[in-house]
Amino acid sequence: MNREVSYFKQFFISVVIGFTILFIASLIWNIRSERQTTYELAKVEAEGNFNKDLTFRKWTAAHGGVYVTMTDSTIANPYLNFLPNRDITTTNGTKLTLINPAYMNRLVFQMSNKKDGEFGHICSITPLHPNNKADKWEEKALNLFAKGTEEYYSPEQIDGKEYLRYIKPIRVENGCLKCHAQQGYNLNDIKGGVSISIPMDKYKVVLKTKINSIIFNHAIIFFLTFIIGALSYRRIIKVVKQRDASRMKAKENEAKLKEQNNKLVWANEKAIESDRLKTIFIQNMSHEIRTPMNAILGFSSLLPDEFDNKSKLTEYTKIITQRGNDLMFIINDLLDISKIESKNMNVNIEPINLKDLFSELLPLFHEIQKRNLKSHVKLILPTITEDIILYTDKGKLKQILTNLVGNAFKFTHEGEIEIDLLINSSKLITFSVKDTGIGIPTEKLNSIFDRFSQVEQSSSRIYGGTGLGLSIVKGLISKLNGEIYVISEINKGSKFYFTLPYSKQNLIETQNNSTNNIYSNTL
Ligand code: ADP
Repeated sequence: MNREVSYFKQFFISVVIGFTILFIASLIWNIRSERQTTYELAKVEAEGNFNKDLTFRKWTAAHGGVYVTMTDSTIANPYLNFLPNRDITTTNGTKLTLINPAYMNRLVFQMSNKKDGEFGHICSITPLHPNNKADKWEEKALNLFAKGTEEYYSPEQIDGKEYLRYIKPIRVENGCLKCHAQQGYNLNDIKGGVSISIPMDKYKVVLKTKINSIIFNHAIIFFLTFIIGALSYRRIIKVVKQRDASRMKAKENEAKLKEQNNKLVWANEKAIESDRLKTIFIQNMSHEIRTPMNAILGFSSLLPDEFDNKSKLTEYTKIITQRGNDLMFIINDLLDISKIESKNMNVNIEPINLKDLFSELLPLFHEIQKRNLKSHVKLILPTITEDIILYTDKGKLKQILTNLVGNAFKFTHEGEIEIDLLINSSKLITFSVKDTGIGIPTEKLNSIFDRFSQVEQSSSRIYGGTGLGLSIVKGLISKLNGEIYVISEINKGSKFYFTLPYSKQNLIETQNNSTNNIYSNTL
């Protein structure tokens, strides 16, 4: 995968993880604050109740209590029996009893508790009435009030139900002293409080709805954000990939352009080189044709004067014939190369016996040797004791071998020329022509098979030749489905070897025990 794409993928995953964490945090925070709000609302309700109770209480205290008709549930307060006017009778005989604030609170609370589940409790650590004794939670709050706290509330479980409990202190006022002065109460003392317990059920129902709506909203926003993110991610990846593809394409095009340019440069260089070689070729060719032509014309002009001198006549006609043959070779080479290049060369495949072939070639090789004035250079032929039948074009194989042997004699001044053959597989036969001549520079090894190409290109050429021989040899070998190779070392010699197809039924190992390994890379 592209580096940029994988980096972006990692970045996207990190964003998704970060976003999810943020989302969960927001969800938790929202639910928490909603829950907190619920308790705050319950507290406001409790506070309202407390204030209302306090107002009633103050009003009652301000009047030193109120007289109410005695009933079964509203009996005279036994803790006020020290007051001479606790119970009075009206002029029409109705019995009234004095209700102090605490007693009124207790009676009212008893009534409301029965009604709707909210309940209040007037409490003190040292009450007159045992029912007003502070429970543990109230006691804790009253202690806090003694240290300066103004109000206290917390969610609490009562009989398995959740309540918000709220409590505020009640300070001793003038009206209180009427009844409590005997207990040693002083003005502004905190001797008790009123606690209100609000059941959380109804708030919980609202809270649940709110939490559901928070979860729902978060889920919707989360999924929408996720979908938009995923779509954007896909789009960005697509754009990055497209951009990479077009970059790649641009690079490819650039490479193609470069390649085409290189090809053009190469073709141009080749054309220049070919032009140069052609010029050299024409110069060589003129020289190669003019030399025998001069001889032919020169000696033919001498003939009429030597008609009576038989030996001179024989000598001159021999020279004329030889030079004529030289011209013929050149013309044949030209014809061959044009046939090879125009792909007009025909092959005549027939069974040939290699033993016979080399018997036929031997006089030709000797003639080449003589013509090149190399009788001192030793010629070694393969020893073939049995018949080896090869299916190929005999004339062309002869032409290939005479050409290679011709070059070997031409470029070898002393030493030997060795022709060898090896049937190395059921499908190939390899011929080699090795000499101990001048050798070929390594940088020229590839080009010597090109037409007109010669190692020696100076005007003061020693060796002569047209530069066509090896390109004809290569063309003929490839026409016979073979391949040609060369290894060479300057001043040590050269070895040309070529393969031809060989059919299996004719497989007979060569009897040549030569130590010369055709395939060795050294000479
Ligand atoms: P040419 O007519 O010049 O011999 P070829 O195509 O036969 O043309 O050979 C091309 C060139 O290859 C020669 O001019 C020569 O420089 C080099 N060459 C070919 N055969 C040999 C060899 N046996 N030893 C050294 N150089 C060789």
